[in-house]
Amino acid sequence: MSAGVLEVKDLRVYYHTSHGTVKAVDGVSFSLAQNERLGLVGESGSGKSTTGLAILRLIKPPGKIEQGEVRLDGIDVLGLSEAEMRRIRLGALALVAQGAMNSLNPVMRVGDQITDALVDHGVRASAREYVDRIGQLFERVGLRREIANRFPHELSGGMKQRVCIALAISLRPKVIVADEPTSALDVVVQRQVMDTLADVQTDLGAAVILIGHDMGLMAQFVDRLGVMYAGELVEVSPMEDVYAEPLHPYTRLLIACLPSLEQKGVFTGIPGLPPSLMSPPPGCPFHPRCPHVMERCRIERPVLRQVQSDRWVACHLFGGEAGAE
Ligand code: SF4
Repeated sequence: MSAGVLEVKDLRVYYHTSHGTVKAVDGVSFSLAQNERLGLVGESGSGKSTTGLAILRLIKPPGKIEQGEVRLDGIDVLGLSEAEMRRIRLGALALVAQGAMNSLNPVMRVGDQITDALVDHGVRASAREYVDRIGQLFERVGLRREIANRFPHELSGGMKQRVCIALAISLRPKVIVADEPTSALDVVVQRQVMDTLADVQTDLGAAVILIGHDMGLMAQFVDRLGVMYAGELVEVSPMEDVYAEPLHPYTRLLIACLPSLEQKGVFTGIPGLPPSLMSPPPGCPFHPRCPHVMERCRIERPVLRQVQSDRWVACHLFGGEAGAE
């Protein structure tokens, strides 16, 4: 994958528990170009949120980044001191977290929370300049300036999520990680919040990693999609190609699960359960659920390989001795 504003190579995040080691992210690599919107999808526990948190170095014990590289404009993020990392967080790498209420301080006015973040990142200004800057940020995300004087509990879910977006863009980051930013919102507000995120992203020229499981939302927002399964990326493809011709059997099943207008009210799922990340099956981790499983799949783990100019797949059906389908 070509060089971009963000390069992630062989990222591994393990949780060391008394029952054993959980390999939550196990060798994830991708790159992100300036202005690009990349989606990360997968079932719960597939490692998508952990990947986002690891990029920001927000993994808490017993989790640990075991291995890998995260480079932001060539800077080795994992090699920075904690003080340097604090500057980069928000300054160049921002997070729009899942569940806005949890990421806002309930006893502080929302405007003051953004002022605090600016001060913490070395922005020096007069009280009037702070008020003005925060007012502009709020208007940018579709909120009235006076909302800055409210407490989080005085705001709706959509407003809180907009405050989080205002905070995330306050220092014009290069990369925004948006982790299920609309999961707690109704579909109308969800659309408005995503439009706001798309607008500010275009304005800033920032790249976005959108983490979620809603394929409809992904189709509306992202340029490229990374599909995660059991801590690994199993397919990375342009969004329109994922819909037109999904390659990995797991991606095919994800697309097949989407409700269609022709089959109103008929919902299907993917048979079986995701594997234990403590003791995944040998070979391909998807093999117990895969309709195309071959003998080789039970023994040999497929690696993510380029199968078309802009498509990568980890499956023995493609590019290996079994040949592409
Ligand atoms: Fe299915 Fe084999 Fe491909 Fe895994 S490697 S997804 S089991 S065909």
